[in-house]
Formats: sequence, C-alpha cells, structure tokens
Amino acid sequence: MLYLQEQHLMIRQTVRDVVAKVVAPKAREIDETCAFPWDAVKALGELGLLGVPVPEKYGGAGMDNLSNSILIEEVARHCGSTALTIAAHVGLGTYPILAFGTEEQKMRWIPQLASGQAIGAFGLTEPDAGSDAQATKTTAVRDGNEFVVNGAKMYCTNGSYASTIVFTAVTGTDAAGRKQITAFVVEKGTPGLVQGKLEKKLGMRASDTRMIHFEDCRIPVANVLGGEVQIGVGFKKFMQTLDGGRISIGALGLGIAQGALDRALPYAQQRRAFGGPISDLQGVAFKLADMATWIEGARHLVYHAAMLKDADQPFARQASMAKLFASEVGTKASDMAIQVMGGYGFVREYDVERLYRDAKLCEIGEGTSEIQRMVIGRSLVKDGCGF
Ligand SMILES: Cc1cc2nc3c(=O)[nH]c(=O)nc-3n(C[C@H](O)[C@H](O)[C@H](O)COP(=O)(O)OP(=O)(O)OC[C@H]3O[C@@H](n4cnc5c(N)ncnc54)[C@H](O)[C@@H]3O)c2cc1C
Repeated sequence: MLYLQEQHLMIRQTVRDVVAKVVAPKAREIDETCAFPWDAVKALGELGLLGVPVPEKYGGAGMDNLSNSILIEEVARHCGSTALTIAAHVGLGTYPILAFGTEEQKMRWIPQLASGQAIGAFGLTEPDAGSDAQATKTTAVRDGNEFVVNGAKMYCTNGSYASTIVFTAVTGTDAAGRKQITAFVVEKGTPGLVQGKLEKKLGMRASDTRMIHFEDCRIPVANVLGGEVQIGVGFKKFMQTLDGGRISIGALGLGIAQGALDRALPYAQQRRAFGGPISDLQGVAFKLADMATWIEGARHLVYHAAMLKDADQPFARQASMAKLFASEVGTKASDMAIQVMGGYGFVREYDVERLYRDAKLCEIGEGTSEIQRMVIGRSLVKDGCGF
C-alpha cells in the first residue's frame, strides 16, 4: 500500500515472524482448551509490541496507531483470541491512563503495561448497562481519602490477569438529576475486588472474559483517573477511549477476514472437481473476488481511521465506519471461506470455522454494529457528509 512507510513494513514483518513462531502453532489448541495466550503475550512483550503506540518516555515503542493496527491485523490472521487480548490491553487497559491520567499515574502504571510485564483491562459494561453505558449502576461513595465501590462489571476482557482495570462508577448526580460518572483505576489484589467465573464463549475462547465484582472495595482518591478534579466527568473519557478502540476491533475483523482468504484461496486452487481446480469455477472465483474486495476496502478504512488519529484529526466517524465495515467483512469472509472449502471448512482442522466463530465478536464488542450505525448516522446529521 502506497501510504505504508518503512516503519510500518518493518513492524508488519516483525509481527509476521513472531506470529509464525509463537501464535499460529498454538491457535487451535488454545481455542479448544480456552487457555490464555501467555506464550504470545510474553513473546510480544519482549519485543516491545504490547505498547506500540505508547511514547518511549513511558516505556512504549513510540510508534503510531497505524503500526498498532497492523500488529492486531497480523495477529488476528491466525488467532483472534490473542489479537483481542492485545487490543483490549493496549486500547482499553493502557490508553485511558495514557490519555487522561495525571503524570504521576502514567509513571506509576504505564511502563509495566507497555512492556507487557503487566496486563490492562477495562470495565464499562454491566449486567444492566451495555450499549446504554450511561445506565451504569456501580457506585463509588466517598469516605475520606477513599471511595467505597459496589457493583459489577461484565465481560471484562483480561479481567483475571489484569494488574490494573480502568472502570466507571456513579459518584453522584448533577443539579438536573443526571448521573455523574467517574473513571477509576483499581489494582489487582485490592480487597473487595472479586473475579467471576471465566465465560464460556462461541469464539475468542482463549481470551479471558469475566465478570468483576466490587464488594465494598476501597479505592484511594489518588486512583481517580486524571486526579480529584476529574471526579464526576469520567464518562466522556470512556467514550473517547472506545473511539480509538474501535480502530483496533476493525483491525481485528480485517485480520480475521484476511486469514480466511489466506486459507480459502490456496485450497480452491488445489481442490479439484469436475476435471479442474474449483478456483476455475465462476461460482467459487466470484466468492474469492468478493472476499478480496471487501478486505481491500476494510483495510483502507481501518488504516485511514488510524492515520487520522495519528494526525490528531477528528476520527470518531471514521473509526465507527472502519469497525462496522471490517467487523462485518470478518464475519462474511470467514463464512464464505467455509463455503469455498465445503466440508473441510466445517471441521476444526482447517481453522476457518474458528475464524468464523471469532469474527462474530467484532460485531458486538466496543459497540455493536447497530451502535456504530447510530454513531455514524448522528455524525452525518450533525456535520454533513464531509464532501
Ligand atoms: C467477548 C466479549 C468481550 C468484551 N470485552 C469487554 C471489555 O473488556 N470491557 C467492557 O466494558 N465490555 C466488554 N464487552 C461488552 C460489550 O462491549 C457489550 O457486550 C456490547 O457493548 C453490547 O452490550 P450488551 O451485550 O449489553 O447488549 P445490549 O446493549 O443489550 O444490546 C442488545 C441488542 O440491542 C441492540 N441495541 C441496543 N441499543 C440500540 C440502539 N440504540 N439502536 C439499535 N439497536 C440497539 C444492540 O445492537 C444489540 O443487538 C465484551 C463483550 C464480549 C462478548
């Protein structure tokens, strides 16, 4: 692609090499056993790939969001679970501290996260607050220099392995009776922070997904994200975090779609029926052509959204478009790969059924496809189409 620079080609090759050695060989096994991808996390951390867009000052690689998208795409070509683990760690567990934390908070938590010595997580969703995240019921009541937190967060990715979880809680109401929501960081081992059971899932089975309970969990005021002045104004920070996170989920859907084509194309070229390779049959070739075209479009959308973010330009609409399109491409392309591969596509040995199961999450996590359409629609009505 014309706009990829030397650093992007370099990171792509580095990730391809490490994925071939550490991620791809284990992907099927960890999907079956639901084992957390520790080997991959360790290897990627050692290469500085768990803090790609984090400035060097805080122990990161000091690269851009486009590089991070390429990383997630390349990992997702082989293992959605590992890609989701990284996407949540970087985009949701680390980014809010980097973007909204005080200098002291950044120095305290980011270097460990960026080097992969610690894993980060993000707790927004609750049993009664998903798409409507403002319906949060978790409360944090001030008691001197602490907040006492009660409630639960659902589907927390990396929940049981995270050293820090950035989460929201209601700390009061404003004059109009609206909830005031504050963002906090809770550290692993804090009394009253209780992990729920590992969720059994359709896909992304090696990614750690858990309920997190707060039971009279005491959190110092020093852990309010951005410091005491930010009490009551945390919701917007979480929405901004999701804007960036959506680029990563787009990259994940894109990687899964590419992984599906990677497998379906050579299969179609070698599988013979009616006297020739099935890739010569128009009905099959058209499927491959559609997959390749969707993937090319998804890649442009994802990379463009990442480049806008890197250029400090508004990017929320483009991030939603990238997430919406690339997620749906992930599902459609992996579905189509199964169809091209027939019975072989349906069995585990050929991996495309796993890609299909993993892809579906991209249409749900970090805002469902309906929510992305809502964000894009509102932005069109407010700002026009932009051309
Ligand atoms: C594997 C996995 C990992 C996750 N990781 C995390 C995490 O790390 N941290 C975290 O906080 N959350 C996480 N989530 C939660 C995820 O972000 C939510 O599941 C998602 O936002 C949808 O919320 P919900 O499940 O409550 O669905 P609901 O909000 O109940 O939605 C149900 C349906 O209603 C539709 N709907 C809702 N509102 C509208 C509307 N206004 N217009 C049209 N349709 C609408 C939705 O699109 C959906 O189809 C994860 C989820 C999964 C499955």
